[in-house]
Amino acid sequence: MLACCVVVLMTLVTAPALLAAPEVQTADSQAAMTPVQALERLQAGNARFVANATKSRDWSAKVIATSAGQYPFAAVLGCMDSRAPVEIVFDQGVGDVFGVRVAGNVVNEDELGSLEYAAKVGVKVIVVLGHTRCGAVKGALDHVELGNLTSLLAKIHPAVEAAHCGDSHDEACVDKVATENVRQSMREIRQRSPYLAQYIDAGKIRLVGGMYDVSTGKVTFLEP
Ligand SMILES: [Zn+2]
Repeated sequence: MLACCVVVLMTLVTAPALLAAPEVQTADSQAAMTPVQALERLQAGNARFVANATKSRDWSAKVIATSAGQYPFAAVLGCMDSRAPVEIVFDQGVGDVFGVRVAGNVVNEDELGSLEYAAKVGVKVIVVLGHTRCGAVKGALDHVELGNLTSLLAKIHPAVEAAHCGDSHDEACVDKVATENVRQSMREIRQRSPYLAQYIDAGKIRLVGGMYDVSTGKVTFLEP
């Protein structure tokens, strides 16, 4: 009697995963995807997010389906801002995207090492994602000094100089610096990581920049 109940219980617990095989990245799907298709997948996901039409997902099934390994198709270097969570704004699931997040989406050797790992694992696109109204950018404009944050904000100063503006209360200036900062991070990825540059130059990985608008949810990809 007890054994019978245990079998029934196990069937009930595992039933959702068996009934609905979740859409997850596999070694084959990752290998088959081109960099253009990977970018289109992110664009389509953001369009769903903006339209408030994100996919319905069986998260528990995805956890089970990805437990043995991961084959993400994208890596996103984004800001830590709580309004710009990369998996959500691109409407992606468990196992789809490497999220590398740090205030101001700046680049240092730790972010480069993380992106190099993502390349090794097989991602097809790397996105540097800045966003509007970025607090880190405002801090850089105001020359904020605060513990270890001081040296982080110093990494945004070249973008401040490139933007030729200096008022943290001027939204257009803040967003202009954030955009310059995305381009700066993209340059640093190429220049400071010969490993990543090889993938990018060979066309195996596409490096793109984008700006996320915290007032609309829309990601606008930058022109190369
Ligand atoms: Zn930010």
